[in-house]
Amino acid sequence: MSEDSKGGNGKVPPCRIGLYICHCGTNISKMVDVAHIAKAMANHPDVVVSRDYKFMCSEPGQELIIKDIQEQNLNRVVVAACSPLMHKPTFRAAVARGGLNRYLFEMVNIREQCSWVTTERDAATRKAYALINGALARVKFQKSLEMRRIDITKRVMIVGGGIAGIEAALQIADAGCDVILVEKEESIGGHMAKFDKTFPTLDCAACILTPKMVSVGKHANIRLLTYAEIEEVQGYVGNFKIKVRKKARYVDTTLCNSCGSCYDACPSLPVPQECKLIIGDKIFKEGTRLKTGISALLEPDHDLLTLADTQAGAALSRQPKEGVTK
Ligand code: SF4
Ligand code: SF4
Repeated sequence: MSEDSKGGNGKVPPCRIGLYICHCGTNISKMVDVAHIAKAMANHPDVVVSRDYKFMCSEPGQELIIKDIQEQNLNRVVVAACSPLMHKPTFRAAVARGGLNRYLFEMVNIREQCSWVTTERDAATRKAYALINGALARVKFQKSLEMRRIDITKRVMIVGGGIAGIEAALQIADAGCDVILVEKEESIGGHMAKFDKTFPTLDCAACILTPKMVSVGKHANIRLLTYAEIEEVQGYVGNFKIKVRKKARYVDTTLCNSCGSCYDACPSLPVPQECKLIIGDKIFKEGTRLKTGISALLEPDHDLLTLADTQAGAALSRQPKEGVTK
């Protein structure tokens, strides 16, 4: 019979919990009365051992847990210390070395989420007490789990083709994974494509951005889905199924050579709304002031935003026109 179902009455299994509260030197103990909580928790009906210790992640700290599991026949362990991101694997391994399933363990963060974020000792102690109480209530329902290794497809979807999405896509693709980059606008580039210079170095934004946009378009491991939005996400880590709706463009992007003639014929605004920067009653595009109210007469100065989604070579060879357009 597994340790999480011993003598079960059909509801809550009988528990023998070991509780360990860490001082973290003075990181926790200066703001949380750890000794007081350990003493109070000793009266909890499910707690068999309740201790506070200077450094729980140290070798002697982990040995305390292992020894208690074996000598006190513990079937659950709770550690109140730092962020689980930091030491949950450490304590799970210690619990396993003690002979208990590593998932019959719960960790409470009373450092980053408690002692480090207040200057009130009483309030911090009350919060730590409440968090630990919650963990004691939860750990009773945890079950033994088995670790399995499964194959996953090394494919990553990045939503948003701004500079962050572009950079992430390039780095992940260079590491050998397939990347699908989804952008809701007609082109990748995002806000950075609207800037002339970047703060604080006043570097040319387009000089940084456009080579990366072209690299995304050419990268063998990156599939670019522009003018597309996520409709549905199903699944779980390592096994997602995502439905993406690609909006109609009415243009074959593999044949388009960025000549810009369709701007003249387009009955809609020749400058997409998201490509404009509006300050008061002035409208700017790529640092150039546009005349307001007569947008239908604007020159078809091809904006950089559309380039990465067309053929990369043609994109690089074409420069936007300068000057005020009428
Ligand atoms: S377990 Fe976390 S809180 Fe405790 S001593 Fe180690 S780092 Fe500090
Ligand atoms: S830019 Fe030129 S080639 Fe591309 S869709 Fe418009 S008219 Fe056709």
